[in-house]
Amino acid sequence: MFDKILIANRGEIALRIQRACRELGIKTVAVHSEADKDAKYVKLADESVCIGPAPSGQSYLNIPAVISAAEVTDAEAIHPGYGFLSENADFAERVEQSGFVFIGPRAETIRLMGDKVSAKDMMKKAGVPCVPGSDGALPDNPAEIIRIAKKIGYPVIIKAAGGGGGRGMRVVHTEAALISSVNMTKAEAQAAFNNPVVYMEKFLEQPRHIEIQVMADQHGNAIYLGERDCSMQRRHQKVLEEAPAPGISTRLRDKIGQRCADACKRINYRGAGTFEFLYENNEFYFIEMNTRVQVEHPVTEMITGVDIVQEQIRVAYGEKLRLRQKDIQFRGHAIECRINAEDPYTFVPSPGRISTFHMPGGPGIRVDTHAYQNYVVPSHYDSMIGKLIAFGDNREQAIARMDIALSEMAVEGIKTNIALHRDLMNDAAFQLGETSIHYLENKLGISSK
Ligand code: ADP
Repeated sequence: MFDKILIANRGEIALRIQRACRELGIKTVAVHSEADKDAKYVKLADESVCIGPAPSGQSYLNIPAVISAAEVTDAEAIHPGYGFLSENADFAERVEQSGFVFIGPRAETIRLMGDKVSAKDMMKKAGVPCVPGSDGALPDNPAEIIRIAKKIGYPVIIKAAGGGGGRGMRVVHTEAALISSVNMTKAEAQAAFNNPVVYMEKFLEQPRHIEIQVMADQHGNAIYLGERDCSMQRRHQKVLEEAPAPGISTRLRDKIGQRCADACKRINYRGAGTFEFLYENNEFYFIEMNTRVQVEHPVTEMITGVDIVQEQIRVAYGEKLRLRQKDIQFRGHAIECRINAEDPYTFVPSPGRISTFHMPGGPGIRVDTHAYQNYVVPSHYDSMIGKLIAFGDNREQAIARMDIALSEMAVEGIKTNIALHRDLMNDAAFQLGETSIHYLENKLGISSK
């Protein structure tokens, strides 16, 4: 096994990876910005290296700084976590060229899947069903664009090939608005992702977001670890996730799961990955693949008993998958609430010092957080300060445990979205399950369209 791993991330996922390493007897190197120098997980790591000032462009996204930190500490592998450099193919390439192992897929796979146009194309070839849309990138000719939209049927959604994090998307309801919307999305895509390529999809009116977790090794084996329902979203960003997805039959899960595992073999996939789908009228439509560990991976861990981060590390080391598909048993139900430092209803970030911090416990409760009393939530990064995960024998028990845990949880000094989650646990439609991706915004009376 590796002797030492550098963790190129911050916050709860940096701590999560550190825990996996410690359990495997692997030493850890924490890299951090000046803003994170006092974080407890940085102190807990075997070694730490400051890689730059607070802005992530100068620290967590600074490729030469991360690589030289690995060099000076003699780390053997780099775990990128999620966000930051995790889906940066150039980074993965530089890591491997510098003689380290990148804990994730090969650079060419990241590149292929990072471009949503080429990813969809690849998935179509692999027999994975996709959202109906333009075959590839939109052409420049306006008449041609109008023809494509007519064929797909309104409403349509214009999406950036290089988009991510819920950005670079625009819904179009009428032909009159089409060309200006395409041009605006292109300009935004160029500014945000340095790639003006956009494509078009049918805008599904009431879909759910359901994704399949996969795990593949370097020896041609791939398995699926079931699905997660991430339909509770605002501004195309997930707020709460659960596994399994309510109402999905074993037969349907196995069918779509097997397609994804087969697609992994076809693209020579390595490591953990997620196939994201929209699900409507009993059909799955592929939207994109994430080539990294996801924020919501714990709900899958709770219902399968598989430690996804440890498996990532083992596979990166070159081990064969220890589990076969038939070894994967799904038990019970798990829900994850993302706890954010933000106003629960306007979502405006609320950084600052946490004066009171009391975490819940009890049967089936897991808390993944790097925060603590007197921790100062920096204003430079994502507002997520932790994740509360509840497991139960069934969905009702998971909801009940989550509600109790949320009622015990006390975070003061900053605003958090705990109240929103409590509201959701007591929401009749959520309790029934199978709500669409628009449910939360409709409930809150906001629109992302
Ligand atoms: P990102 O990479 O930015 O997360 P995705 O392609 O995964 O972008 O889409 C994010 C979210 O946007 C989806 O979960 C869904 O809520 C919405 N969305 C994307 N494509 C469509 C579509 N064709 N119809 C309806 N909603 C969509």
